[in-house]
Amino acid sequence: MIRRMSEAYNVMEMLVYEITEEILKMPNINICKCKECKTDIMLYALNKLPAKYVRTAKGRIYSELETLKRQYKVDVLRYVMEAVEVISRNPSHKSEDEEFIDDLDKFLEAFEGTGKIL
Ligand SMILES: [Zn+2]
Repeated sequence: MIRRMSEAYNVMEMLVYEITEEILKMPNINICKCKECKTDIMLYALNKLPAKYVRTAKGRIYSELETLKRQYKVDVLRYVMEAVEVISRNPSHKSEDEEFIDDLDKFLEAFEGTGKIL
C-alpha cells in the first residue's frame, strides 16, 4: 500500500508555492503558466532547497513558514527564477505528450489496483 505521511508537512513547499505564484504574476515573466509548467518550476526549486518538515498543524505550519521566509526567501527566489529560465527553454509538455496527474490520491489508488510494486 502506498502511504503518504499526512501527519507531516514540508513547509518549504508552501514557501516555494507562494513565491512561484508571485513571480509568475510579474508582467515581464514570459513563460507558459499552465499547471504542468508551474509544477515543474516548483519541483525544480524544491529539489534544490532543503525540506523542512513539521507536524501537520496550522499553528506549526504558519510559524515555521515565517521562519523559513526570513531564512530562505532569497534562495527560494533565486531557484524559482532559475527554474523559470530552465523550464521556459524546455517545457516538458512540448517535448513529450505526458499526461498530467490532476488528482494524486486518485492516481495512487488506481496504481495500487494494478498490484505493481514501486
Ligand atoms: Zn505549460
